[in-house]
Amino acid sequence: MRETSLRSMDRRSFIKTGLGTVGALFALGPMDSLGADGTGQEVARFALLSDTHVPADVQNNYRGFYPYQNLLKVVPDVASCSPDAVVITGDLARLTGELGDYANLKSLLDPLVEKTPVFMGLGNHDNRENFLKTFERTSGQKRPVSGKHVVVINKGPVRLIVLDSLLYTDKVQGLLGKAQRQWLENYLRESDNTPTILCFHHTLGDADGDLLDVLRLFDMIEPIQKVKAIVYGHSHVYAFSQLEGIHLINLPAVGYNFNDKGPVGWVETQLTSQGGDFTLHAVAGNTDADGRTTKLTWR
Ligand SMILES: [Zn+2]
Repeated sequence: MRETSLRSMDRRSFIKTGLGTVGALFALGPMDSLGADGTGQEVARFALLSDTHVPADVQNNYRGFYPYQNLLKVVPDVASCSPDAVVITGDLARLTGELGDYANLKSLLDPLVEKTPVFMGLGNHDNRENFLKTFERTSGQKRPVSGKHVVVINKGPVRLIVLDSLLYTDKVQGLLGKAQRQWLENYLRESDNTPTILCFHHTLGDADGDLLDVLRLFDMIEPIQKVKAIVYGHSHVYAFSQLEGIHLINLPAVGYNFNDKGPVGWVETQLTSQGGDFTLHAVAGNTDADGRTTKLTWR
């Protein structure tokens, strides 16, 4: 894990050099009760998934991985952990967000949705319109940012905000955009001090395919102490780093890795007001770190 504490002048260079490899949202199903850890501290348990890349054709494969089969395998694994909620940070669909991709995603997630709420964000391989057509049941929450799907998940000791970084379907770069950033700033300033984790699809580097407004985002959130971590996908790499005391958690892909070093799987997490435990469930690719828990303490 990389630990970095930088003054704001250095933030730009960290983003440029340190993170190069590093949606729309939807709630389905009921919210369950909270657990507690051994100390009696209130705990929220989430399953964090990303980059499922579910295809319409179940035989579709890439680098020897079958994304449909991977999610089929992961769903019972997630269900057996009985999380309070599931969050999937985008690239739900194979490449272009086809209706057939989402139909398969929906049927694969059905056994989970019956047990726990599933929140989905959109990535650059999603299509907002097709996604919404397929997942038409909403959480009943009014959409706070026009044309973007933003969902706030309040779960005991923590709050997760799933943001929408989808800019163009099947073009790699992402953008939150001014309206969404402005909404986020207002929301963060007006809400209580519950430790807050931002979730979205895109990586935080300076490459053309990263989140293009990452520096504006960081300028905004750095002084807001309640923002503790960012969870994202996109790179198909599992990695932890830190910037200005904010933890950056890059989720592995469920669908496939981009090179043999990367695990394919998902992350089980237990979050408290003080920090979180993140445990890798590697189902394919590099499984060396399967079961490994990374402990983070919030700033
Ligand atoms: Zn992806």
